[in-house]
Amino acid sequence: MVEIDGCPLIALTKRTPGPRPRIYLSSGVHGDEPATPLALLSLLQRGIFDSRAVWFLVPMINPTGYLQGTRENLAGVDLNRDYRHRQSPEIAAHVRWLEHQPPFDLTFCLHEDWESTGFYLYELNPENRPTLADTMISAVGRTYPIDRAPEIDGRPASGGIIRPDPDPISRELWPETIYLCAHHTTLSYTLEVPSAFSIADRVAMHGIAIESALNAFLPS
Ligand SMILES: [Zn+2]
Repeated sequence: MVEIDGCPLIALTKRTPGPRPRIYLSSGVHGDEPATPLALLSLLQRGIFDSRAVWFLVPMINPTGYLQGTRENLAGVDLNRDYRHRQSPEIAAHVRWLEHQPPFDLTFCLHEDWESTGFYLYELNPENRPTLADTMISAVGRTYPIDRAPEIDGRPASGGIIRPDPDPISRELWPETIYLCAHHTTLSYTLEVPSAFSIADRVAMHGIAIESALNAFLPS
């Protein structure tokens, strides 16, 4: 097991015999987004990760940032920009683990946004597979606001959905989702909940989005 400043880096897998979709979820790459590991923990406790799929969970990519409440790790590195060059021990270890995993049918990366007014998401879907974005937006939107700004975080957005260029070559610094799309999956979601809401609401928003997507994606 890899440790960073005494904090273990954890990856969990849960397999059920027989062919199953492989689904990956991660949280805690930014240490100042505490609702994200709590959301995965809440889903785990509710038994969402059941026999419908094979599950791959990385719940705390940046433990030293989490402990000090900073976006970056203890060394001041934004880990979610380090997936191309992998200079941090956290991301080097994460990628070493990923290289031993099979391809994923679907991935989720959980985040918070300190500036947004509501929930929104990024979709990377280079092969135009059936989208889960609208399902998640409408499920969350029944209870919580959606950030419907035409531009979010400098990118064009529509109805709370951002579809960036998935081409990894176009970027010098790779976030986790670009690495996943380059090497592990053809359908990747980054979910963003507004940090202005209570932690319970942020956990709930992630939960509603993921559960709605899984119910649409997995045969019942
Ligand atoms: Zn983040």
